[in-house]
Amino acid sequence: MSNNFNDTYDVLIVGAGPVAFSCGIEATRRGLTHIMFDKGCLVNSIYNFPTNMTFFSTSERLEIGDVAFIAHGFKPTRREALEYYRRVKEKWQLNTCQYEPVKDIEGEFGAFRVKTEKGTYQARAVIVATGFYGQPNLLGVPGEDLPKVKHYFDEPHPYAYHKIAVVGAGNSAVDVALETFRRSAEVTMIVRGPTLKPSVKYWVKPDIENRIKEGAIKSHFNSRVAAIREKEIDVETPDGMVTLENDFVLAMTGYRPDYPMLEHFGIDIEPDGERLPVHSEDSYETNRKGVFLAGVVCGGLRTGRWFIENAHEHATKIFDTLESRK
Ligand SMILES: Cc1cc2nc3c(=O)[nH]c(=O)nc-3n(C[C@H](O)[C@H](O)[C@H](O)COP(=O)(O)OP(=O)(O)OC[C@H]3O[C@@H](n4cnc5c(N)ncnc54)[C@H](O)[C@@H]3O)c2cc1C
Repeated sequence: MSNNFNDTYDVLIVGAGPVAFSCGIEATRRGLTHIMFDKGCLVNSIYNFPTNMTFFSTSERLEIGDVAFIAHGFKPTRREALEYYRRVKEKWQLNTCQYEPVKDIEGEFGAFRVKTEKGTYQARAVIVATGFYGQPNLLGVPGEDLPKVKHYFDEPHPYAYHKIAVVGAGNSAVDVALETFRRSAEVTMIVRGPTLKPSVKYWVKPDIENRIKEGAIKSHFNSRVAAIREKEIDVETPDGMVTLENDFVLAMTGYRPDYPMLEHFGIDIEPDGERLPVHSEDSYETNRKGVFLAGVVCGGLRTGRWFIENAHEHATKIFDTLESRK
């Protein structure tokens, strides 16, 4: 397929993550044309996941478009996933444009004009599948802008023989704490609540709990980072303010949808609670007719609500709705 500013595509998909791929496949299955844009590379979020990460899902549960997902272990690695999605793109001839962020959606159902950094494309309907991984939840404390503060984790080696604080209580924080601890980092976990999150993977939980219990990984529960400086951090604990020597802060505090972008696209956001982008649970159409949501972005602040495994249905529901309007 070639990309032509003069063509009108049946659907234009914002984002080229796994759920956008499902949408592109579904379009092709139904004889509709599509074009898909990502601000980064293909499956950009997965590309930016920790280098050595293993999915919690088994590979067959991530399969899409009847393309077999062969992994060496029981659960696939990030590297195997990147290879898998490249194969899916080739098998389905997905019409993908990389490094081309979508900036604006003008027009209306049947005649949208979508602006990217490179030009304006025409489409009958738009699917926004932009995920949440681009926007970390910030700590909002002085010193957060220092280069030693990281909101993404790549690999443990750079932290070896350094004092690191891991902020957070979920799977990412636990994985980072254990991985860096096992590569000779001196790790302190700083957890806002009284316990780790119940969602921590059951096969990892005993390991982290035992490391904390024996003091190999230090911890402060019911605590929060109050300030970050070049060589130390202040932590507000139930026993008062504590200052810790520190080389790196790994803030694994989760992510959130890009709300300003969604609002700019004309999608309303529920003001309270989970701050869901407004959409129908039957069709995934937003308050803006012809603009649909797909993937993890649908969950708002509840970022664990949707994941690849359970978001496959979004594509089917969206295209059922589009077909019913023909
Ligand atoms: C560490 C980690 C491990 C996970 N493991 C699993 C697992 O094992 N199983 C599972 O089912 N789920 C897992 N998930 C959850 C979920 O599967 C992923 O978050 C998945 O990537 C979501 O897919 P998506 O297509 O909805 O969004 P994403 O994959 O986040 O894709 C959104 C895309 O939109 C692009 N984008 C954003 N804004 C624009 C714009 N303006 N213009 C163009 N492109 C834009 C982004 O660059 C990105 O590529 C995991 C999540 C994390 C963080």
